[in-house]
Amino acid sequence: MGFREIIECKKRGESLTAEQITWLVESFTNDQLPDYQMSAFLMAVWFRGLTPAETLALTDSMLKSGAMLDMSRLAGPTADKHSTGGVGDKVSLLLAPLVAACGVQVPMLSGRGLGHTAGTLDKLEAIPGYQVLLPNHRFLEVVEEVGCAIVGQSPDIAPADGKVYALRDVTGTVDCVPLITASILSKKLAAGPANIVIDLKTGSGAFMADLAQAHELARSLIATASHWGRRLAVVFSDMSQPLGRAVGHAHETREAFAALQPGGRSRAPADLVGLTSELAVEMILLAGTQADRGSALAQVQQAWDSGRAFDHLLRWVAAQGGRLDPDRDDFGFDLAPLVADVTAERAGYVTGVQCREVGYALADLGGARRRVGEGLDLSAGVDFLVRVGEKVQRGQPLAKLYCRRTAKVLTAKERLTAAVAIAETPGAPPPLILDRIGPA
Ligand code: URA
Repeated sequence: MGFREIIECKKRGESLTAEQITWLVESFTNDQLPDYQMSAFLMAVWFRGLTPAETLALTDSMLKSGAMLDMSRLAGPTADKHSTGGVGDKVSLLLAPLVAACGVQVPMLSGRGLGHTAGTLDKLEAIPGYQVLLPNHRFLEVVEEVGCAIVGQSPDIAPADGKVYALRDVTGTVDCVPLITASILSKKLAAGPANIVIDLKTGSGAFMADLAQAHELARSLIATASHWGRRLAVVFSDMSQPLGRAVGHAHETREAFAALQPGGRSRAPADLVGLTSELAVEMILLAGTQADRGSALAQVQQAWDSGRAFDHLLRWVAAQGGRLDPDRDDFGFDLAPLVADVTAERAGYVTGVQCREVGYALADLGGARRRVGEGLDLSAGVDFLVRVGEKVQRGQPLAKLYCRRTAKVLTAKERLTAAVAIAETPGAPPPLILDRIGPA
């Protein structure tokens, strides 16, 4: 069977063999299968899905497209966290040093922006000098020295995922349970520790629109990970409005780092603090260094407020070549100037946010990719100032826009004005943590 026949099989909803899937993935990785045929295959999977056996085969072949990193040289307990992606999701930037300060090593492998969501790697590149790609031995050395490191997928770690991920980003095939499962786990199995916490987001800014679909993804992730003996816990969190205030690379990195400074826990946006704490507790429990939720939370708060977590942050960033000026409010990052306020057209209560539109507004400002490999303005950003349930006055700023390419400011403004629903009666603010499930 050739590539076209395989695509047609999936188009008709038929199951593929492990050999066929492996051949397809190998051919794509070796540039023998062109992007247009892989795109067609991905779209067929989006519509028809994959069986659990096919999902295993896809994960396995993407995992085997590269090297496996030997984590056994890390002596201490280890854990990692992976988010399914959201708007303003800068949690990894605080979480890694925070959990490291609690005595759990965090070797974290992160990705670039996908769809309307910005990626941790791009956010880290907003730090002058920060090296997102380290040789594998150096990655593990930094984890040993500091307790955490965050790197990108080096070309030898699940290279098939790197290529497929970039293609999915621009072909509308991101929000698909088996493709997300294979993407996340191929990376985590190749270069992740035994304990993995997934922040599974649902809502208008997430790839999983509702909790039912999120549970389907959680089941798929847990079943696939357990096949390789990995322990995986899932926290279901709300993504129906941006997390924190800042959206955009340098802006988010600044917000995350400011939040982790001593005293930052009480000043930072409550949802950012709440979700970071929740995920840190989950990682500590999974790594087995604390016996219960209460003592894990106390440890997290102590590490945060004492400045130990921020000290880990400074050492981690320096170990990866980054230059931070902790005495400056902007840490020395390049932040675009304010160009416009988005204001409320009427008084009332914020009842909902089309959160995905906030991600697209960042793209309007030059801060997200629309094509594979496109450059980004890391200094562009949106400060999203209101939360669902809040009362607003007519003319009150809902958001602030920062950019250097002013051509699309009007589009971004109109998009954001339309994205915020304001009504006369208040709606209930959504809960931040919707559910959690532990390892099987
Ligand atoms: N994160 C990933 O690594 N892959 C996806 O497909 C979605 C989120």
